[in-house]
Amino acid sequence: MHPETRLIIAGRPPHVPDQPMNVPVHLTSTYVAGGDLEYARYGNPSWTAFEEALGGLEGGRAVAFASGMAAITAVLDLVPVGGIVVAPRHSYTGTVAQLDQLAVNGRLAVVYVDISDTAAVTATLDGAALVWIESPTNPALELAEIPALVAAAHERGALVAVDNTFATPLLQRPLESGADLVVHSATKYISGHSDVLMGAVVAASDELVEKITAYRSLFGAIPGPFETYLALRGLRTLPVRLERAQATAAELAARLHDHPALEEVRYPCFGAIISIVLRGGKEPADRLVQGTALWVHATSLGGVESTFERRRRWQLEQPTIPDGLVRLSVGLEHVDDLHRDLVQALDALDA
Ligand SMILES: *Cc1c(COP(=O)(O)O)cnc(C)c1O
Repeated sequence: MHPETRLIIAGRPPHVPDQPMNVPVHLTSTYVAGGDLEYARYGNPSWTAFEEALGGLEGGRAVAFASGMAAITAVLDLVPVGGIVVAPRHSYTGTVAQLDQLAVNGRLAVVYVDISDTAAVTATLDGAALVWIESPTNPALELAEIPALVAAAHERGALVAVDNTFATPLLQRPLESGADLVVHSATKYISGHSDVLMGAVVAASDELVEKITAYRSLFGAIPGPFETYLALRGLRTLPVRLERAQATAAELAARLHDHPALEEVRYPCFGAIISIVLRGGKEPADRLVQGTALWVHATSLGGVESTFERRRRWQLEQPTIPDGLVRLSVGLEHVDDLHRDLVQALDALDA
């Protein structure tokens, strides 16, 4: 079956007369004793429905978390004390901040790499416990050669985890390339409507699924049942949303390519994120994000509405990200409206 179809039928109650079409939001903190669930930190049918749909799509079993960061925390906890983590220097800012914090605390050691340079990454892998991959990276949009990195990591006995938030399982399925774990900020494309914070880990092996599930039960970064309901509702329409957003992004990237206000247009040829770099850096970029009507200046991404952000406005963003880089999250508005709005703001920079 195709992913579009699987996403429609996954995580439904059995077809029984007068039963609902959707798994309801199960609002309970406890269950009548004697079954498998017992207490709502251990499980909730609203989570399970979402996990079935996402796990099926990635080709593994999903474990839902309260946020993308909570999912990342659970994976990093698999690293033994003092273990080495190899990670992209341009990972999501929160990932880098968490790794740095864990390194400062002596919990693990971290080696940052240019994840698009497979040979250079491979050269750092001896003794590594975990290779963290993010591809495309946020917001530099570098791409990793996932199968080659997985092979090199596994030769050395390291686990491989891939942050698949930007590509989504429709465009990239790292478990099929041999990765051990996938993480998502389900806040982004999976939920898709800028109304939910959620995350997930997906693993192929039962052993890892059990460890991640035990971690969630014990440390308690559980999603709310309403959030998982909304995330599943969003996930069912991901194929149509992504197809439209991706087509619009490709068209916008092509149209923006020669704009004189831009030093660079980065688009990895898939997905719906474009990073543009303004000539003149910070000042024109800050004016651009205040100069539009449709494009909303906001952090986060992957919603139905187009948003954009100068990433270096954050203290945490890496200094190697250009000061004038604006990350565009292309939504579902008409391409001509988005283009017109952006170009009038870019043209106005001249004045
Ligand atoms: C947003 C994001 C995260 C963090 O997810 P939250 O849901 O905000 O906790 C992790 N990785 C990437 C690539 C992201 O864009």
